[in-house]
Amino acid sequence: MYWIDYHHHTNNSFDSKAVMDEVCAKAVEKGIDEICFTEHFSVNPKAPTYGHMDFKKYISDIQHAKSKWQDKLNIKMGIELCEPHLMKDEYKEALNVVEFDFILGSIHNIKEEKLRHYLFDKENHTAYLGYFEEVLKLIT
Ligand SMILES: [Zn+2]
Repeated sequence: MYWIDYHHHTNNSFDSKAVMDEVCAKAVEKGIDEICFTEHFSVNPKAPTYGHMDFKKYISDIQHAKSKWQDKLNIKMGIELCEPHLMKDEYKEALNVVEFDFILGSIHNIKEEKLRHYLFDKENHTAYLGYFEEVLKLIT
């Protein structure tokens, strides 16, 4: 069995205080073979993620972790984008300076409303339909 975790945040994301080296140590302890860090990043000034990412620090953290854990853990550098389909050109411009192993597209908001608020008062079918319509826009 080859265990992977392709959705993980550290203090390079606005919503985590985890230190990459400690995450790697824990992953090795738990028998994870490969981990991809998917730090939040947004080019939308209205998003809470906006302005937090320091690519220089992130890349340095990745390089340090790769050299320290190379025999025990396969480490990938990813990024998680909030609604990338809404600001494609801005994302392309911001991200073409960095070579990522993996880009995770996420829907955290629908029509500028937080997903949990959007889903709160809707029937299951309507809620899922709205969500998947947004996912379809993201991937097409
Ligand atoms: Zn995430």
